[in-house]
Amino acid sequence: MNTKTWDHSTDFLIVGSGAGAMVAAITAHDLGASTLLVEKSPQYGGSSAMSGGGLWVPNNHKMKDHGFEDSFEEALTYVKGTVGDEVAEQRIISYLNNAPKIVKYLCEKAEIELDLVPDYADYYQDVPGSKEGGRTLEAAPFDARQLSEEEFLQMRQPPPQELIMNRVSMNIPEAQSALTHSPGWIRKMLVRFLEYCSDIPWRFKSKRDRRCAMGNALVGSLRLALKNRNIPIWLNSPAKQLIVEEGRVVGIEIRQNGTNVRIQGVKGVLFAAGGFDNSAVMRDKYLPKPTRPEWSCGNPYATGDAINMGLEVGAALEMMDEGWWGPTVVVPGEERARMLVIEKSLPGGVMVNKQGKRFVKETAAYNDIVKAMYANHSEASPCVPAYLVFDANFRKKYPVGPLLPGAQQPDWAVSADIKKLFIKKADTLDELARLLGIEAQGLKDTVQQMNDYARTGVDLEFHRGENAFDQFYGDKSVTPNPCLGPIETGPFYGFEVYPGELGTKGGLKVDEYARVLTESGQVIAGLYATGNCSAPVMGRSYPGAGSTLGPATTFGYVAAQNAIGGDLF
Ligand SMILES: Cc1cc2nc3c(=O)[nH]c(=O)nc-3n(C[C@H](O)[C@H](O)[C@H](O)COP(=O)(O)OP(=O)(O)OC[C@H]3O[C@@H](n4cnc5c(N)ncnc54)[C@H](O)[C@@H]3O)c2cc1C
Repeated sequence: MNTKTWDHSTDFLIVGSGAGAMVAAITAHDLGASTLLVEKSPQYGGSSAMSGGGLWVPNNHKMKDHGFEDSFEEALTYVKGTVGDEVAEQRIISYLNNAPKIVKYLCEKAEIELDLVPDYADYYQDVPGSKEGGRTLEAAPFDARQLSEEEFLQMRQPPPQELIMNRVSMNIPEAQSALTHSPGWIRKMLVRFLEYCSDIPWRFKSKRDRRCAMGNALVGSLRLALKNRNIPIWLNSPAKQLIVEEGRVVGIEIRQNGTNVRIQGVKGVLFAAGGFDNSAVMRDKYLPKPTRPEWSCGNPYATGDAINMGLEVGAALEMMDEGWWGPTVVVPGEERARMLVIEKSLPGGVMVNKQGKRFVKETAAYNDIVKAMYANHSEASPCVPAYLVFDANFRKKYPVGPLLPGAQQPDWAVSADIKKLFIKKADTLDELARLLGIEAQGLKDTVQQMNDYARTGVDLEFHRGENAFDQFYGDKSVTPNPCLGPIETGPFYGFEVYPGELGTKGGLKVDEYARVLTESGQVIAGLYATGNCSAPVMGRSYPGAGSTLGPATTFGYVAAQNAIGGDLF
């Protein structure tokens, strides 16, 4: 391709506009370089804006304030203990060294407010170096009035599962409190609802909550940092092809308003364009089966473009069969699947396979639930879909999937589509099993066993509810075990659960500087990758809440720093 003429030139060219892309742009700018983000969709933010917004950052600067001790060594022991040997140690070290620095920088120099989620425990409590809390940060609620109306509405909206009644935003502690009924949850929800209603006259214009939380708070505050630095984002500008000159990536061709536009990235090009969540072809090619794009919670524009453009210039791929797994439900009328983060841990429910048998500790990390689904799936004994089964008491008390607790949304107030296409309800377990298409005797035996466990508080099979992580999403008012309750009061309910993800995980092979590598380990000069288009530093694991955004942002910083040179700190 002729590289003599450029339509536009910038020092550091970034493809995508999620959190990793934005942190890279802030870094490049603050190191004195020009930068530009090109985004395929009409909205910026990608899955990062749709996310819970948690960042898993061991040894972060806020831990001490909350009385947590941590160290690089403990974090390394823990990550290596969960990730194993498949990831180069240098990458893990790079992550653990750089993540605390960049989050501190964002807080102090980019006015991005990050709060600790103090009791969000690491997911593998039995692995040495784990903590019972302190390593997960989330963006503090962000007031979108700091952006123009257009800038705010151009941010990808949060998915329904992060909103009360599909409108009112909640941060992680508010969501946890509402879902697990911790003391004061009703008051907290009322306050949030009143705040939402009192945003007049905006309330007459849009139902979108301007008090952003979770991923919208993270991306909203990063967007403000970009605005304050005059860093441009070009929307509706999909990258189509890398431009290579003498073995070095020197720019990209994008498509804009029906024409090809050639942009030079003088110091480098960063792919931060997400995974292949919504590509049926790539899912079929790479992921375990069965798999479907509609089981994914991720951004619909994640179609693997960066991975394929990287392949064209000789990049190697790693861990393409992996996802940031989680059990999901497909709700009629919703664009993307919902992840079951909390419901699976609450007392009075159980997850079973087609034979009506349990196959996993329901309170396990969501990543492991899907791994167990696939490991236990065969034609003779299907585990895809699996089923979440619960009773009338559970239905009355807890929100589940798209349903509010029955006390607030009785069955008569549930839409006909949800009743027809999503949830099954029956007076007996026999009838429920028939409606779900699972073995009745298996289900009845399992429920009997769960009821015994609920009485003693000990799950002899899988040890549900026995550690701090399990209990984070338990109901603290339930004893002796906040994650175990009887399933004995009809009517009984159930629905199908799929092996979904928050995004696919495998991608371009990268080194500790986020430089893209060939199969033989050669650096492809000028090309960097972060986020879900790059192979995960977390390997096949998911060490704690925020394990995808933590690395996406950190390696965005690392890439920009390596390309531009100089030091931020
Ligand atoms: C509901 C939900 C909750 C989650 N909660 C958390 C959480 O709390 N903590 C956590 O760590 N992770 C969480 N995740 C996962 C996390 O959001 C993603 O793994 C992360 O955002 C991926 O970042 P990324 O930069 O790779 O992709 P994205 O944030 O999706 O950004 C990629 C961007 O690139 C754009 N793009 C794609 N192709 C092109 C192209 N050809 N040209 C230009 N632009 C392109 C996309 O449109 C998108 O805007 C959650 C995900 C979901 C869906």
